[in-house]
Amino acid sequence: MEWWVSQPKIELHAHLNGSIRDSTLLELARVLGEKGVLDIAGLEHVIKKNCRSLPECFKLFDLIHVLTTDHATVTRITKEVVEDFAAENIVYLELRTTPKKNESIGMSKRSYMDAVIRGLRTVDAVDVAFIPSQTSSENSITPVTGACETTRKKIYIRLLLSIDRRETTAAALETVQLALEMRDLGVVGIDLSGNPIVGKWETFLPALKFAKEQGLLVTLHCGEVPNRKEIQAMLDFVPQRIGHACFLEEEDWEKLKSSKIPVEICLTSNIMTQTIASLDDHHFVDLYNMKHPLVLCTDDAGVFSTSLSQEYSIAASSFGIGKWEMFQLARDAIEFVFADDTVKKDLREIFDSAERKLR
Ligand code: 5GP
Repeated sequence: MEWWVSQPKIELHAHLNGSIRDSTLLELARVLGEKGVLDIAGLEHVIKKNCRSLPECFKLFDLIHVLTTDHATVTRITKEVVEDFAAENIVYLELRTTPKKNESIGMSKRSYMDAVIRGLRTVDAVDVAFIPSQTSSENSITPVTGACETTRKKIYIRLLLSIDRRETTAAALETVQLALEMRDLGVVGIDLSGNPIVGKWETFLPALKFAKEQGLLVTLHCGEVPNRKEIQAMLDFVPQRIGHACFLEEEDWEKLKSSKIPVEICLTSNIMTQTIASLDDHHFVDLYNMKHPLVLCTDDAGVFSTSLSQEYSIAASSFGIGKWEMFQLARDAIEFVFADDTVKKDLREIFDSAERKLR
């Protein structure tokens, strides 16, 4: 595991609230338990359970949101999540989150996102580069030097705003509008996520089209459940990336492969939620063998008790891929990040420097 931790990696599919530390979640639950707002005895079991189906995951997310959706907590978990990713040598993180409204505590989608930005600004364990207008030298990251490094770590961060499938067209458009307003704060794109059996593609399409027209980049949770019509419509939309792709049929695979849309692969998430029966059946192998663009990701490192280093280690051991090839796979992700060419150039330098140490 140490080797995977020491290498630079790129994380492109991480949900903020799904990446929360277990310890933080339990602490927040206990506070509300003491106030009598929550039944903590019943909840500890839910939080500590380490395998849950996709519907159970969405129940857990509803609970997490009860615990985390206030400005101070959003700021805290953003800070912690960034520090956790940076600690395992993630040099570029695309963090996604669903802007939330809660009038009773004066929270608007904008104030929720401002709390996220405050979280980025309060990270002190590592240097964070998230403002796109910063010059290359201000943004430049000290090459990763492995286990005995003495220099401070730095991490590039870009944000994706998620549209929850429970939302209306108007709410989805509001999120896209917010993303446009926050471009100078590192927001680069839009994600469509949330319970895949809820909501219709047609509801989100106007907002996703608008996002595309305005130059935002789009990634879609696609094919987490069998839904032929929706999968076809999503592929026809030609997003810049898709996540999961578990239930594609032959014709969809052909379309995906010819379109070369990069796939965000979340191995542990797929196994834990039982969307894929076993790693032996995972579509990673086929896509990897035919050199289809793909990137390993965590999805919800907290909820699924994983890390990106662990995902690399699992892929290497399950699919018999050598360290060198895995290093190249991690580097390939540079081409699929939603940040601009300046960042990509810096990331190439980071990987070049790490590669020289491997030779
Ligand atoms: P948040 O957006 O609140 O920061 O992160 C949690 C949210 O991300 C969940 O409520 C859900 O909408 C979305 N999410 C997290 N993991 C998954 C997943 O595996 N599949 C889908 N479709 N959505 C997810």
